[in-house]
Amino acid sequence: MTAKSAAAAARATVYGYPRQGRNRELKKAVEGYWQGRVGADALRSTAAGLRRSTWRQLADAGLHEVPTGDFSYYDHVLDTTVMVGAIPKRHRAAVDADALGGYFAMARGTQEVAPLEMTKWFDTNYHYLVPELGPGTVFTADSAKQVAELTEALALGLSARPVLVGPVTYLLLAKPAPGVPAGFEPLTLLEALLPVYAEVLADLRAAGAEWVQLDEPALVQDRTPAELQAAERCYRVLGGLTDRPKLLVASYFDRLGDALPVLAKAPVEGLALDFTGAAAANLDALAAVGGLPGKRLVAGVVDGRNVWINDLSKSLSTLGTLLGLADRVDVAASCSLLHVPLDASAERDVEPQIRRWLAFARQKTAEVVTLAEALARGTGSVTAELAANRADLASRAGSPITRDPAVRARAAAVTDADTRRSQPYAERSAAQRARLGLPLLPTTTIGSFPQTGGLRRARADLRAGRLGTGGYEERIEAEIQEVISFQETTGIDVLVHGEPERNDMVQYFAEQLTGCLATRHGWVQSYGTRYVRPPILAGDVSRPEPMTVRWTSYAQSLTERPVKGMLTGPVTMLAWSFVRDDQPLADTARQVALALRDEVADLEAAGTAVIQVDEPALRETLPLRAADRAAYLAWATEAFRLTTTGVRPDTQIHTHMCYAEFGDIVQAIDDLDADVISLEAARSHMQVARELAAHGYPREAGPGVYDIHSPRVPGADEAADLLRTGLKAIPAERLWVNPDCGLKTRGWPETRAALENLVAAARTVRSEL
Ligand code: GLN
Ligand code: ZN
Repeated sequence: MTAKSAAAAARATVYGYPRQGRNRELKKAVEGYWQGRVGADALRSTAAGLRRSTWRQLADAGLHEVPTGDFSYYDHVLDTTVMVGAIPKRHRAAVDADALGGYFAMARGTQEVAPLEMTKWFDTNYHYLVPELGPGTVFTADSAKQVAELTEALALGLSARPVLVGPVTYLLLAKPAPGVPAGFEPLTLLEALLPVYAEVLADLRAAGAEWVQLDEPALVQDRTPAELQAAERCYRVLGGLTDRPKLLVASYFDRLGDALPVLAKAPVEGLALDFTGAAAANLDALAAVGGLPGKRLVAGVVDGRNVWINDLSKSLSTLGTLLGLADRVDVAASCSLLHVPLDASAERDVEPQIRRWLAFARQKTAEVVTLAEALARGTGSVTAELAANRADLASRAGSPITRDPAVRARAAAVTDADTRRSQPYAERSAAQRARLGLPLLPTTTIGSFPQTGGLRRARADLRAGRLGTGGYEERIEAEIQEVISFQETTGIDVLVHGEPERNDMVQYFAEQLTGCLATRHGWVQSYGTRYVRPPILAGDVSRPEPMTVRWTSYAQSLTERPVKGMLTGPVTMLAWSFVRDDQPLADTARQVALALRDEVADLEAAGTAVIQVDEPALRETLPLRAADRAAYLAWATEAFRLTTTGVRPDTQIHTHMCYAEFGDIVQAIDDLDADVISLEAARSHMQVARELAAHGYPREAGPGVYDIHSPRVPGADEAADLLRTGLKAIPAERLWVNPDCGLKTRGWPETRAALENLVAAARTVRSEL
């Protein structure tokens, strides 16, 4: 086919769409079903209605091919587990008794059985349920959901393409089932899994599928030769089937690297590649393998992960280059639109001019359609769209919101000295000891205390105007009094104010920084029925006024003991927001860091001797490819230091992260140069303490001794044992005593009991020193 006819055939499609509906109907129906208020049939019909209306919208917007099977009651990886019959033993009976009830039991657990583990879907903020596999796993095909959804879409007269998690990615995302040795590699089950996929593909073909998409995002991560061989084998086998639809193998979130030649040579009819961000490297790599002669290329040129309008001319030039490289070029978003909110036009509170810079799922779909149209019929067919796009891009680039000269000048003037403490750790630690006068094994908490229904109600009342600012602030102060007095009575050494004023640790700060937007309806699925509304870092960031000083100072006024200031770090601010795509992440991080640095300075000036800067997202933001990690860690640790190093030697900087193993980033943690770090460790029996010791970590650390993810209250003996274990790795002069994480999700009774036990444990172990 010539480039010209490849263009003429260009079609528009996407791989997936937000599931919840305009008014979060799916969340309401599923939660209603859990509570017994909504029957199974009503839930099914709500879901079918949502699917229908989504497909109609997509088709009306001009998509030529709609995705099916991407819908989920909870999670598409769990749906794949059902599709291949890999139901864990402990859930078998429940699933056999009632498929829907059993499905939710796997997702959420029951009184009797634990749910599947949940973890992050690549580097997004979506969480999937981890398949549990072992040498004894027997796969059986269950194509019912996929076939039913395809049939529904075809019945609407649409051209539809089922989307499945590919076999290689499915196995690479799995973990050994309980009781299976940790060394077991799920990928060794590939031969057993392929016949099941073959059956599903045959069923889908019989149901009318011309194409089926197999998603293999795991292939954008670094893969061993054996894993690449498995991918080669997988698509040789599936491609060699006679009774099957055409296969489109999709990748997204990064470049394919060594997997590109493998897939390019595979006997499948099409590849979908991401051409945004770091994945733009796919373009040269594709040319280097001689393109995809005879194949369909689906080009992900509209970023499916950010909220910004596309640069349509730039995408058209990418598409133009791609035309010479494949038999047929179609246009898509880079990944499923699951990761962006539904519709920017619903954001009535955002200034209309700025709203024009935003593209959520609906707007991105329109962009894909425009690009396909331009490719097929020439730019003359979309002149108005291109002109509007150019105007909106220019308005964004020239806006004082995205270009604040003062912020830019300050960021440009940052020197290396600004990112270093004035004294080395040994000297400043002596100064801190003298100032704070803490006992050995000092006790503290991670920041938040229980977020009670009363507090949430007060916030809702404030928003609704039922409570004035004064009344709300009194309510917060009363809560702080209670939290301080509890900590004093219990005998905790370094206190916190409890964070009662925070709806969320990122949103709270974003609302007070310039350059940040909040959305009203910008919900994005985090997991199951949990949706979050990430702030949008839209412009240059600065801090017009102190953000936390008022509450920390108030707390400090109530006690002689040190109260720890509490901030969210720059990397976490970025990780849990939508970030700009018009400048490097490192630049945004530096602006946020400078704003936070001012807050740190104000806290110090107000007499705060201990300041904690939380960075729970430092590790989860690691780039998918190892080659990109050093550069990331360099700017990320620099941003943390820029936030924290402007203080006097005798001001103690804490940081906190929530994971129990971090062998791969322990050097980066060292590079933060924080005086004290608290980490999750209770469930892993202080694993983190051993990792720090093995690295020769020179500063203080608080491996958690209270697992806050569970309502269980650890006994004082148990906490003391953990401390003794910790002492084998970290000397008493550098060991802190604290819970794993914040207490906001816990109730007061268990929090009280657990912290009393924690203090008792610290006292017992101190007396043994
Ligand atoms: N300071 C925060 C809290 O205690 C830290 C939360 C977190 O680590 N995710 O809630
Ligand atoms: Zn935490």
